[in-house]
Amino acid sequence: MKNYVLDQLERPMKDLRISVIDQCNFRCTYCMPAEVFGEDYRFMHGDELLSFDEIVRLVEIFAQFGVEKIRLTGGEPLMRKNLDELIYRLNQIDGIKDIAVTTNAVFLVRQAKKLKAAGLTRVNISLDAIEDEVFQITNGRGVKTKPVLKGIEAAREAGLEIKINMVVKKGMNESQILPMARYFKETGDTLRFIEFMDVGNHNGWNMDEVVSKKEIIEEINEEMSLEPLDANYYGEVASRYRYADSDSEIGVISSVTDAFCSSCTRVRLSADGKLFTCLFASSGYDIREMVRSGQSDESITSQLIKIWTGRDDQYSVERAQKKPLKQKKIEMSYIGG
Ligand code: SAM
Ligand code: SF4
Ligand code: SF4
Repeated sequence: MKNYVLDQLERPMKDLRISVIDQCNFRCTYCMPAEVFGEDYRFMHGDELLSFDEIVRLVEIFAQFGVEKIRLTGGEPLMRKNLDELIYRLNQIDGIKDIAVTTNAVFLVRQAKKLKAAGLTRVNISLDAIEDEVFQITNGRGVKTKPVLKGIEAAREAGLEIKINMVVKKGMNESQILPMARYFKETGDTLRFIEFMDVGNHNGWNMDEVVSKKEIIEEINEEMSLEPLDANYYGEVASRYRYADSDSEIGVISSVTDAFCSSCTRVRLSADGKLFTCLFASSGYDIREMVRSGQSDESITSQLIKIWTGRDDQYSVERAQKKPLKQKKIEMSYIGG
């Protein structure tokens, strides 16, 4: 059947990221520093969050824009009650081929099996160090690696595809690049290094704290020979490499030193229903209001077409050109990465 929405788009929307909650059990220093996200921080609750019915309706609309992949994130998405129910419903939507979750893995021990049964295909698990002493500092809550490693095991046993994400920040965990690479080369899980980004307003980002893709690759390659691999698909954000002597692979997401804005096919929906066409935007479009004011699917669709075709985001390119940056940005825990 002809898709009239897709015909109007120069760039398809491929990858929809939905934050389902802004709360988290961790306080990673580069994302939700404990001194800002403390006891009296006001998280969203009740009606502020999009309901599952609202999310499902919006995903049905987004599927017409070419969205095939859904990533559920947060905050910590596994803290949203009955997440498996949402996954099950999203999986029934025509055109949706792949549902993934980004998580710190702690609650996977209890949830992996039922999430898989509901239709989850993949998990991206955040782990920034393999040594307890470093990890306890990065996660801001003194949590050791064991609960995360158990979560990874539970995901494996449930048959979920696994990728491990490690944010690298100078002075925080660059000592862990090689130990993490060695560990996951053995397990065969793909490890992806993420350059520390200037998302949000509270992580005190400074270019000097970014460990670049080039530095990461050089360090690993010195000990374990790497060969570059082709991208799996258009717009893939990680540069891929394979170890010369094994099938394990690594990736580097170089959004700071090597911007990829022109091929960005992502769109993000916050837990309270704001739509963002860029991770570094300072404000979003209030889709929850469109839904709750009783607008028809057609009306919402035509507004979304305007938003998507009108987008000119290229924050990472501008940052690289040292152009003055916008003032206030949204928080990573709010938009979910
Ligand atoms: N709580 C889940 C987790 O940590 O996987 C999902 C939400 S978290 C905000 C999503 C991703 O953003 C994680 O992989 C995290 O490491 C990454 N992230 C958070 N702050 C970042 C920063 N300043 N620079 C780069 N990546 C960041
Ligand atoms: Fe929580 Fe994920 Fe942010 Fe860490 S990166 S504080 S686990 S939302
Ligand atoms: Fe996409 Fe914005 Fe990141 Fe550029 S900076 S790749 S437009 S999210």
